[in-house]
Amino acid sequence: MRIMTELNGIYPIIELPEEVNPNPSLPIPAQFNVMNQNIMNQNKIEQQVVIIDSQMLSSMQNCWREYQLRFRFNLKPSSTPDYFKNGSLLHHGLAKYYEGIKLGLPKGECKLRAMQRMHESIPELNIEAEAGNWLIQTIDQYCDFYKNDSLVPIAIEQPFAKIIYEEPTLKIIYAGVIDLLIQDKEHRKAVDHKSETRHYDPSDLDNQFMGYTESIEGSWFMVNKIGLQKTLKPEQKFRRYVIRYEKPRLNEWLTNTVIYVKEMLEREQFPMNLTSCEKFKGCAFRSFCRSIPAVRPLILEREYRVDEPWDPIKRLRKENE
Ligand code: SF4
Repeated sequence: MRIMTELNGIYPIIELPEEVNPNPSLPIPAQFNVMNQNIMNQNKIEQQVVIIDSQMLSSMQNCWREYQLRFRFNLKPSSTPDYFKNGSLLHHGLAKYYEGIKLGLPKGECKLRAMQRMHESIPELNIEAEAGNWLIQTIDQYCDFYKNDSLVPIAIEQPFAKIIYEEPTLKIIYAGVIDLLIQDKEHRKAVDHKSETRHYDPSDLDNQFMGYTESIEGSWFMVNKIGLQKTLKPEQKFRRYVIRYEKPRLNEWLTNTVIYVKEMLEREQFPMNLTSCEKFKGCAFRSFCRSIPAVRPLILEREYRVDEPWDPIKRLRKENE
C-alpha cells in the first residue's frame, strides 16, 4: 500500500504493508450472529460487528498512529522484548499453580507443577537460562508466601466475549482472557497478574480492569503484583490491590468505549500523539516515527514484521473448535 506521510510540508510516498481492518473481515462466531441475522432478515440493514479488547482500546486512546500500525497494518517489532517474554513465563507458572489448587491438589504439589511447567516453557519462549531460573525462583517464593491463601479459583485463563453495545447498524463485542477468576465469601473477582521490575501502584483507570469487571458483571477487581527485584523481601515484592468499581463508573467506561470505537470506524487519518511515545516501557514504534518518512521502508524491513491480523477472540475460537 502506498501512503503519503507529511514532514515539514513534504509528502514523500512510502510503501507500507496492506492496511487491513481486522475486525469486519473476521468470521464472527455463531452465538454473536443470531441478532445480526434477524436484523438483516427483517429490516434488510447490515449490522457491522466490531470485536475489541483492552489492547486495541488502549491503543486507540494512546495514539491513533500506533493503533493504525499495530492493528490495521499488523506490524510488530521483529524481536519480542524481554519483559513480555518474562511475563508470559510467569503466567504459564501461575496458570499451572492455580489449576492445581482448583483441582484440590496439595499446595506443595501445585508449586512443583508450576515450576516444572516453567522449566518446559523456557526454550519455547527463548528466555536466557539465568533469567528463566530467577523467574522460577520468584514463583517458588510466591507460592510459599501465599501458602495460607484462602482464595478459591473458579476459572483460570478464561477467555470471554461479551456484547457491550448494540444498535441496528453496529454491534460491539468486548473480549479478553481473565488470568484468574476467584470467589471469596461475598464477591466474584477477576484477577490480573502483573509482573514488575520496579515498584509502582496500579491505576484503577484502566481499560483492562474495568472491561473485565464489566464482563463478569461484578464490581471488584484484583491486581496481583509480582515483583522481580532480587533485593526485595517477599512481602515487598508480592502485593495485591483490590479495586471496587461502582456500576455508574462501569457505565461511564462503556459509553466512553463506544465513543472511541465509533470514532475508529469513521477515522481516515491516524495522527501521531507525541505525548504517548515514552509511556510505560516506550512505544514499540518509536524508531519508525523518529525516522525520516523516506527511509521508513528500510526501517520497516529491518525492525518490524507483518504479523497475522490481531484476533481478540483467538483463544475463544480455539476452545470452541
Ligand atoms: S512513537 Fe509516538 S507517535 Fe509514534 S506510534 Fe508510538 S506513540 Fe504514536
